[in-house]
Amino acid sequence: MSRRDEIAAGLAETEQRIQSACDAAGRDRDEITLIAVTKTYPASDVELLAELGVTEVGENRHPEAGDKHAEVAAALTWNFLGGLQTNKAGAVTQYADVVHSVDRAKLARSLDRGAESAGRVLGCLVQVDFDTTDPGRSGVTPDAVADLADLIAGADHLRLDGLMTVAPLGVEPRPCFDQLVALGATLRETHPGAAMISAGMSADLEDAVHAGATHLRVGRSILGDRPVAG
Ligand SMILES: *Cc1c(COP(=O)(O)O)cnc(C)c1O
Repeated sequence: MSRRDEIAAGLAETEQRIQSACDAAGRDRDEITLIAVTKTYPASDVELLAELGVTEVGENRHPEAGDKHAEVAAALTWNFLGGLQTNKAGAVTQYADVVHSVDRAKLARSLDRGAESAGRVLGCLVQVDFDTTDPGRSGVTPDAVADLADLIAGADHLRLDGLMTVAPLGVEPRPCFDQLVALGATLRETHPGAAMISAGMSADLEDAVHAGATHLRVGRSILGDRPVAG
């Protein structure tokens, strides 16, 4: 099988999972955007995804993400999903359209300065963490969402797009996704434009669809096992 056929098969299988989850949840497939997570896979895979109709890709590391963006000619929306050091924020604003992993005020300010010098407006999601046992994880606690969201919404070169989470390891993902969706509804009372709910990966996309996610971030289910750890 050619790589193109492999990816087409992975994409079709993933689409089927999303459609079944939509059917079960009584949701319309059009409410959901699939982000193909291409971290560790080559730029040639990104090109194939674009040929197959994928419009959004996700990357979690700089400079890998920037290198790939420079190599890929197709017009795509580039989502940055990973933990981000403040000193790399400026570089990431050069190519990212939306950063899903904004989890502190200092990072938001750096992204705002970077977007200003790049002459663009950067979409931002507040990353929320529901794990109370592991202090090393990225993301703000639910009670800290409002302050960080206000800061992003008030920054001249940032746009508050919504919320993102990664389900903690070893627990049922569904309650976390439900909480994220509820937080999103509260957030929209003060920021009506913050409509994105980014949740669900290969292992738990059905739970995310049921909860009400608008954006799924899916790698392995489309592209197969990763070439290297990431
Ligand atoms: C890698 C990654 C994904 C995709 O994970 P898969 O298991 O390959 O679907 C989604 N979100 C984030 C933040 C990631 O780092």
